[in-house]
Amino acid sequence: MSDIIENNDVNTPLDFIREIVTEEVKAGKHGGKVVTRFPPEPNGYLHIGHAKAICLDFGIAEEFGGKCNLRMDDTNPTKENMEYVESIIDDVKWLGFDPEERVYFASDYFEEMYRCAVELIKRGKAYICELSPEEWKEYCGNLSVPGKNPPGRSRSIEENLDLFERMKNGEFEDGKMVLRAKIDMASPNINLRDPVIYRIRRIHHFRHGDKWCIYPMYDFAHPLEDAIEGVTHSLCTLEFEIHRPFYDWLLEALDYPHRPRQIEFSRLNLNYTVMSKRKLLQLVKENHVSGWDDPRMPTIRGIRRRGVPASALKKFIKECGITKFDGVTDYAKFEHCIREELNATCDRFLGVIDPLEVEIINYPAEGIEDLDAINNPEDPAAGSRKLAFGRTLYIDKADFMLEPVKGYFRLAPDKEVRLRYGYFIKCVDVVKDADGNVTKLLCTYDPETRGGNAPDGRKVKGTIHWVDAATAVPAEFRLYDRLFTVENPGADGVDFLTQMNPDSVKLVQGFVERGLENSVPGKPFQLERQGYFTADLDSTSAKPVFNRTVALKDSWAKKAK
Ligand code: ATP
Ligand code: MG
Repeated sequence: MSDIIENNDVNTPLDFIREIVTEEVKAGKHGGKVVTRFPPEPNGYLHIGHAKAICLDFGIAEEFGGKCNLRMDDTNPTKENMEYVESIIDDVKWLGFDPEERVYFASDYFEEMYRCAVELIKRGKAYICELSPEEWKEYCGNLSVPGKNPPGRSRSIEENLDLFERMKNGEFEDGKMVLRAKIDMASPNINLRDPVIYRIRRIHHFRHGDKWCIYPMYDFAHPLEDAIEGVTHSLCTLEFEIHRPFYDWLLEALDYPHRPRQIEFSRLNLNYTVMSKRKLLQLVKENHVSGWDDPRMPTIRGIRRRGVPASALKKFIKECGITKFDGVTDYAKFEHCIREELNATCDRFLGVIDPLEVEIINYPAEGIEDLDAINNPEDPAAGSRKLAFGRTLYIDKADFMLEPVKGYFRLAPDKEVRLRYGYFIKCVDVVKDADGNVTKLLCTYDPETRGGNAPDGRKVKGTIHWVDAATAVPAEFRLYDRLFTVENPGADGVDFLTQMNPDSVKLVQGFVERGLENSVPGKPFQLERQGYFTADLDSTSAKPVFNRTVALKDSWAKKAK
């Protein structure tokens, strides 16, 4: 066992779940085997919260030499479909986990679940109840008042068996009756006051068609799914803690030969976004975003399209840790993890997102030369490349000020700056349009300063990025920001849609250095001084489109002041 812990990251203390699993494996429980599962309901695309559960479920299985099943929890078919199933499998794989042949469907266990329900009836532990939901309210009590036994609770086993079979055979209309577990109407845990385990619903199942008109409730289905698959550790979020007594009761009542252990951990919550599937679906359906994979969405698809590598997402999740305490994680922490990861791995390039033309008036008209540029200062192995330089360049508008304020060290009339990897240039004149806007700068360059240093030792304080106009490639940049302007959208009864950030995406047209037009989605790069970018799915080499994954610095904190 000790080598398993050593194989794990020795610098990270084990979280409480890994401690439990370690102990149980050591004690030889389940023959030392570890089987976990990730059980999404295929009624939407996965989001960053699911990524936490995936990293935990698949991660633990990997670390302990076990297996993790990917189980579609498709027992409530009203909103489920195959598009979601396929996207879930794909997203799990993108995160770097492989369920191999272990992609299961809870609905494939309907026969076994039905058999278990019949068994409970035979054991006197389930009964048919004909009370309407309103009538049930009179019997169930509340947190301070115990419930009382409903009529029908004393029905004979034979009669229950007969009614349940007829329920299955479609003899009764929807809602006419339900099957309840017979536990304890006075239990302080309301989930143990004879919960519903089967109901009649004539809905079309996307995999089983109209075969079933009765469907098991989640609380009944889930422990059985775990037990059927031989799951040893059923890891779920804190809201299931009060469901655990029923989970254990059910498997005990059936003497189920295999007993998984449910362990709860806190959800991942992020500020400035929403994670409820209902709200995400609404954003998509009502076109508030361009789709599930809109790069502003907290979905795995969106995060991926935006350019975040799986490694950065996993790093973030690891840093959040596994605890029992609910909290909200700051979006800035996510961005910080993305930057850290990309800083170490990304090549650097030059690009201009808000172009201002510069003419170097003392540079030969037809001249063009190649300058040496370093690909990644953090990684000497990344090497260098050639950067074209010519008489006409673009710089970013933000790097020029007609009347520079104190402390502004970039370009201004009669001021000199260094062009990254290039020469010192000095602005000698400006061209303006009829409205007085600066449309072009006329500059001179000092041929002695090639590579960025002056032989006479004179210094310039500013270094700015640029591209050569003759060879640069026009590109669209999509600059993203937080999707909502408030930390907790929808809180206090406010409609979350009214809190969307109107500036969550800005489209601008600029230029990138030659070569980047062939950059492919999923391969992030840094545009020096501006941020990390990735080619969007819409990008073609004829019309490159780049998503800004994250800016180089956290500008939100400043803006929010
Ligand atoms: P709903 O049940 O309302 O459709 P859900 O977010 O619970 O939404 P599921 O598809 O049931 O969606 O979730 C699959 C698994 O992912 C569950 O085990 C759940 O506990 C876990 N999960 C969901 N959201 C988070 C989150 N924010 N943080 C960590 N785990 C999560
Ligand atoms: Mg759920």
